Amino acid sequence: MEYYTEQAEFVNFYFFPLLVQSAAMKTYLTIWLGAVLGLFLLTGCGLETAASLPPLPTLAPTGLAAVSTLPPPTVNEGTAVADATTVAQLPIHTPEPTATATPTVTPSPSPTPTATPIGPCEARMPGDDLFTIVTQTYGLSRDYAPQDIVLLTDYLPVDVTLGYPTELRQVALAPLLQMIADMQNAGLQPWILSGYRSYSAQAISWEKWNREEPERAAILSARPGHSEHQLGTTLDFGSPELAEIVGIEDIEFHTYFYQTREGIWLAENAHRYGFTLSYPRSAQELTGFFYEPWHFRYVGEEMATFLYESGTYLTEYQLINQPEPCIP
Ligand SMILES: [Zn+2]
Repeated sequence: MEYYTEQAEFVNFYFFPLLVQSAAMKTYLTIWLGAVLGLFLLTGCGLETAASLPPLPTLAPTGLAAVSTLPPPTVNEGTAVADATTVAQLPIHTPEPTATATPTVTPSPSPTPTATPIGPCEARMPGDDLFTIVTQTYGLSRDYAPQDIVLLTDYLPVDVTLGYPTELRQVALAPLLQMIADMQNAGLQPWILSGYRSYSAQAISWEKWNREEPERAAILSARPGHSEHQLGTTLDFGSPELAEIVGIEDIEFHTYFYQTREGIWLAENAHRYGFTLSYPRSAQELTGFFYEPWHFRYVGEEMATFLYESGTYLTEYQLINQPEPCIP
């Protein structure tokens, strides 16, 4: 209705004084031009919708468990590397054209999960969406805080939580408890070091790094709004083996986590419980984060298994299959 009204006024103002004399002819042309313009505008909206979800391309395996021969660097949790503008312009895989009559893309082994299209900047309030993209480029609103947060110390013993007041969204709790139980039954000793982090908690951490090491802050901490921990579905795991492997007493985060028995088990099995490794080695260029073998995000069993089996990671999948989000 709004379009029609605007079109009618447009036609009356610009065309009728020049072209039309009779009232009957004016009525006829109003309907005719209104129909043409209406069709044009509706086609524009339709194109936007149709372009929102290109088909899933075949991705080359990125090797989640690939091991470099170079000694990995010691990094802090939440470490960032690339300049934000650089990251934003790195779509490394171009989706196949949709018009191909005989598609050569092989179907994925498991059902392809559907991701919710990303809204405009002011709508970057993920709600219950498990697939919200968070990178050094694409951040979350300062107002976003998940509503179903639980305290893990209420559900797990101190030899898992180490007494830290770690929080997690309820939606990921049961799968986590099952995963921890299965790890313990396999003789492992998983630790949970960090979970939900609010926007303000991340801001405090960011300001601390800026104050103490201003030149390195950009590579030592995620800016507020740019940490997956704000989603409440992300956990950092630890292992009692890490200190000995690294040779530093009490160290909690180190790339060598991938060598611990807990790290190896998680890399191979976490997807069966819905958790995915957000930052494998191959993710650095696209996400702006170093390899973080301890950092897992809950996305549900279907998506996590799909990512594991296709050898890709969440951000890579999102940038191909979801419309590019705006930068706040
Ligand atoms: Zn983390």
